[in-house]
Amino acid sequence: MPKLIDTLFFCSAPRYALSFTLGYALAYCTSAFAGGPLIIEGPTGVTPVTYQNPNITVHTDNDTLNSLDDLLLDTNTVVEEAFALWNNINTSTINLVINPTQINEDININNFDSYLPTTNYSEFNADDNLNPIVYDNNGEIIDAFFGDGASDHTIGFAASIFTSGTSYFKEGYAVINGKDLNLTTTTFKLLITHEIGHFFGLDHTQVNIDNRETDFGTPELCKSAPDRSYYPVMYPFICRDTETLHSDDISTISALYPATNVSSNFGTLQGRFVDDIGLPILGANIWAENTTTGETFSVVSDYLTQNNGFYKMLLPAGSYTLHANSINPLFNGGSGVGPYTYNLNDISFQPPHPIGEVDYQGATDDGNEGVITINNGETLSINFSSSGSLVQLISSDGDEDDSISDLFGAASHLTLWLLATLLLLGRRLSGRGRLK
Ligand SMILES: [Zn+2]
Repeated sequence: MPKLIDTLFFCSAPRYALSFTLGYALAYCTSAFAGGPLIIEGPTGVTPVTYQNPNITVHTDNDTLNSLDDLLLDTNTVVEEAFALWNNINTSTINLVINPTQINEDININNFDSYLPTTNYSEFNADDNLNPIVYDNNGEIIDAFFGDGASDHTIGFAASIFTSGTSYFKEGYAVINGKDLNLTTTTFKLLITHEIGHFFGLDHTQVNIDNRETDFGTPELCKSAPDRSYYPVMYPFICRDTETLHSDDISTISALYPATNVSSNFGTLQGRFVDDIGLPILGANIWAENTTTGETFSVVSDYLTQNNGFYKMLLPAGSYTLHANSINPLFNGGSGVGPYTYNLNDISFQPPHPIGEVDYQGATDDGNEGVITINNGETLSINFSSSGSLVQLISSDGDEDDSISDLFGAASHLTLWLLATLLLLGRRLSGRGRLK
């Protein structure tokens, strides 16, 4: 039985007049589940789900979007330009093309259930290889999924479908609202780019933006960074304002769909994030910052849901500082970042969180930030603690343990670790029961 994921992805246009007076079209996106990769599944439950064939043909319905018609813009061209941001990354194999000819009708409220999942998800229509892109001109399809009036603040939604226990998506789809929601063309395009990122299997990302807004109405959204180029496309809100990808977007798509040249363009920084006695800290935001370019890259600790605090990032050759903090509690549920943000009771929001910014100190622990130099093709392993210290995790046979599969710690640590794991598992199961 195929399982529908991410049924609640939607990108919403702003409801806050202030954002318009600033000349910005502010928007946010939500998803039902989040994780670096969005979906962790596979036979053993720790595999990021992807498209097995990264060359994906999507089929557009034969309508156009009224809101773009009004701007004298060709709908398929705008959508193609959004796709191109991902397609043009040469360290990733992902390649999305539009076939505008195979669906020979306007997909609308009367026939959408023969292309998309039905609204009660009794039928998924995931076996026709269409990957339909639906232009929902009057918002009726969005309203059918999310309730009357949803199309007044929802720009669209996208999802991919997979079968439990497998590692590959079967098929995806996107529905784009044609109502005029007063978005700039750039924001509209970035929203499609963001949704397509979810379609491929990318999660939201926080990088180094330590915004502390507590609700969607706070007028400080998108103002925590020096300028909007600091915000990735896959940030939970569309704050970016240029039609480009952020370094973090490029790194994560290259990790999920690596081209053969990845090792000549990136090194790998990996390790575990732990507390002062070596217990894993799950669901923290981990980021690296290039000391020369300022580029940032991030992932969530234990993003593979192995209960060991493991993190891994692709970094272009250079020198980096390494950091951690907690996920902004605003990023829960549909706006979640990482696998432990299902709701405010989930692991990312429970002790030892919230954790303020942790700066990795390096091997000397002299109070200065450690600088990590990485070469392309190189893999560096650094375990660090919430006090910023380099941590040697010793396995029970006395060897330094850099294997993901090994348990770590001396016997007493091992016992503690198992206890903690059991507790965390209990919380995960209760907090995320809908996942399994
Ligand atoms: Zn999103």
